[in-house]
Amino acid sequence: MNVIVVDDDPVVRLVLAKAVGSMGHTAMPAEDGAEALRIVETQPVDVVVSDWMMPGMSGLELCQHIRARDAIEYIYFMLVTALDDSEHALAGIAAGVDDCLVKPVRPFDLRLRLMVAERVTDLHRRLAERQRGLERSNVDLAATARQDPLTGLGNRLKMSEDLEIFWSRRDRYHEPFGVALFDIDHFKSINDIAGHLAGDEALRQVAAVIRRELREADMAYRYGGEELLVVLPAGVRRVAAAADRIRKAVQNSAIPHPGRPGPETVLTLSVGVAAAEGDIESTLLAADTALYKAKSEGRNRMAVAERRVTVPELAASP
Ligand code: GH3
Ligand code: MG
Ligand code: MG
Repeated sequence: MNVIVVDDDPVVRLVLAKAVGSMGHTAMPAEDGAEALRIVETQPVDVVVSDWMMPGMSGLELCQHIRARDAIEYIYFMLVTALDDSEHALAGIAAGVDDCLVKPVRPFDLRLRLMVAERVTDLHRRLAERQRGLERSNVDLAATARQDPLTGLGNRLKMSEDLEIFWSRRDRYHEPFGVALFDIDHFKSINDIAGHLAGDEALRQVAAVIRRELREADMAYRYGGEELLVVLPAGVRRVAAAADRIRKAVQNSAIPHPGRPGPETVLTLSVGVAAAEGDIESTLLAADTALYKAKSEGRNRMAVAERRVTVPELAASP
């Protein structure tokens, strides 16, 4: 263990440090509370053996400072008091001191107490490790609970949470955003002709292409079935341009479509684009309506929702 020995008396310091060292521990001598705190801040410390009466900072104050730190690692604190100092010992224990030794400290007593200290700090260390492990699993679980297992994209839960964030940024900082709802064309026939697993694989490949096409601030989610939603923090014209770029990228990546007859057997997407307007629900509905339009106009194309703000904006575009 790393053991700080704090005493303003250099002789006591030396004797205690020697005793600590002879037990196989590392003694870190400090001549006052401030020096002890500096060591605590910069090095791993398991135990502090501190004199009560010291100029500047008392042993009790040192203990309170150490206990006030926001650290997982536990430091076992031993206070050294004078023989007739039972009141101080009591106050010390009440304030977070773990153990009290009476002056003059006999090396044998110190040895016994350090054995107890080692057991307690060991227990704290194991608890801290377990805690860190639990925190890690919590982070992993939170991520898993928000990911679609087939495509690796965000799921509906993640989508709802993120859309709330996009929306509040739009309200607060006037950052526009838009959504693009993609749907695989004639997807059902892949399942019908090549089987459900082939359908799954096609969906995975489409998701991979979309992910490759996104910029860092863009987000993609599995909206449901074979429908994927992309959210882009930009005005509707840029969102539409990105959506169409993604559509073309999927077509160009030539994922086979075993469900379609004829030479054009690559998988394609239709996409409906809408600017964030009104509320989240009506924005998604507008994208869905635009998607329906793209489908009815022949598929493998993009349609942009006609909305209050976006219509003049689009009309002004070349
Ligand atoms: P359209 O061009 O009009 O979009 O035609 P479509 O066949 O793609 O449309 P429809 O909505 O009728 O079919 C979607 C199909 O997607 C139906 C469903 O069985 C299938 N599907 C949904 N989720 C999954 C999935 O996770 N894996 C597989 N293999 N199929 C899925
Ligand atoms: Mg479809
Ligand atoms: Mg669909």
